[in-house]
Amino acid sequence: MLQSEAVKIEIINTGTELLLGNTLNTHGAWFGRELFKLGLRIDRQTTVPDGDAIRDSLQEALGRADVVIVTGGLGPTSDDLTREITAEVLGLELITDEAAMRSLEGFFALRDKPMAEANRKQALCPVGADILPNPNGTAPGVYVPPRLNGRSNCAVFLLPGPPRELYPMFHAEITPRLRALAGVELAHDALVLKFTGIGESDFHQGIDAQLAAVAGLEYGYCAHIGELDLRLIGTEAALAAGRKIALDHFEQYLISDDESSLEKTVVRMLAERGMTFSTAESCTGGLIANRITNVPGSSEVFTHGFVTYANEAKSGMLGVPVEDILIHGAVSEVVARAMADGALRVSGASIAVAVTGIAGPGGGSEEKPVGTAWIAVAMQGGLTESFSVYHPRNRKDFKLSVSQGALEAVRRRLKASAR
Ligand code: AMP
Ligand code: MG
Repeated sequence: MLQSEAVKIEIINTGTELLLGNTLNTHGAWFGRELFKLGLRIDRQTTVPDGDAIRDSLQEALGRADVVIVTGGLGPTSDDLTREITAEVLGLELITDEAAMRSLEGFFALRDKPMAEANRKQALCPVGADILPNPNGTAPGVYVPPRLNGRSNCAVFLLPGPPRELYPMFHAEITPRLRALAGVELAHDALVLKFTGIGESDFHQGIDAQLAAVAGLEYGYCAHIGELDLRLIGTEAALAAGRKIALDHFEQYLISDDESSLEKTVVRMLAERGMTFSTAESCTGGLIANRITNVPGSSEVFTHGFVTYANEAKSGMLGVPVEDILIHGAVSEVVARAMADGALRVSGASIAVAVTGIAGPGGGSEEKPVGTAWIAVAMQGGLTESFSVYHPRNRKDFKLSVSQGALEAVRRRLKASAR
């Protein structure tokens, strides 16, 4: 039996559409997550076009891996050659599997459709291999156990490409076989701590050395816009130690320890405090409201999302004084504060956030360059807070960065207010 840590798994995704960019290859990420749950990891992933190209990559993978999982190319058409080429590479004869043929016939009979001649090849199976039933389509999977052929000591799985066929087959047929092949299950788990308002270099200087000293802990960082994930992998004890080190230093920047997004955390905190929330957005064009309303249960806490892009909208909907806009400009601290105060007053919500900024590419000045935004948070019975940020990026990333800053400001304000 192989030990889990030593099991080398390779994935080969077939499909010309994956390389042309017509279909996003989601299998890699999906397998990564599912295999990790079993204590296993992907060693290498290769994507090849339909047809002959699979031959070389399969041959190479067989020389390196303990398990090769091939996806796609099990259909009835002439470019679906995974089954044929695998049998050829392994030196195994293909024969019709009678049970698979009956199941195929049943699939078509159930739909009252005649079975095309081309579908018959889908019942072919290398001698000695297992057919993996496919209740969701016509292409059955194939499992060739290790040592079945003289040429490799590698287990080979052939799986259909469509996710709705592949996912159930993986759980029903592949998982138990992988468990048996891998032997012991590793007692390890993963934890992702999400932070905002702090960067990779802070972590590097602050806690890298301490994390590295924790026995059995693997850690890594993943930076997103306005967000940093600290990924911890290891035993329960190692995870607890890593988590403690990170939180001792950076707890005030923590978004979540369960992979919840910032907006989900904000909605949860609002609900816990029995508070309601509204937004007044200029440069983000409603993105903050969009992010909040993506969270299930947001209707309990979110009341109004004002998108006040034009000056008239800022004055008309939120009561921002026209003189303030004339004197200070639409992108200014004064206007951001007036927007937040106006949103709070008009909506009657407990807390409101406002943003106004210059997304570019035009409209910047020396004093207010493209990428400048002001954010203000107003709260019933409290003082309005405001600050500026600077994110000189493309419009989409600018909007995301500003929305992140705004939601983070709300999170901090809520954290400071008692539950
Ligand atoms: P096939 O089994 O090769 O006939 O795959 C048929 C369909 O499955 C393709 O048209 C895609 O829509 C989907 N598919 C195949 N491979 C992948 C992949 N790696 N990621 C996402 N979808 C895929
Ligand atoms: Mg295909």
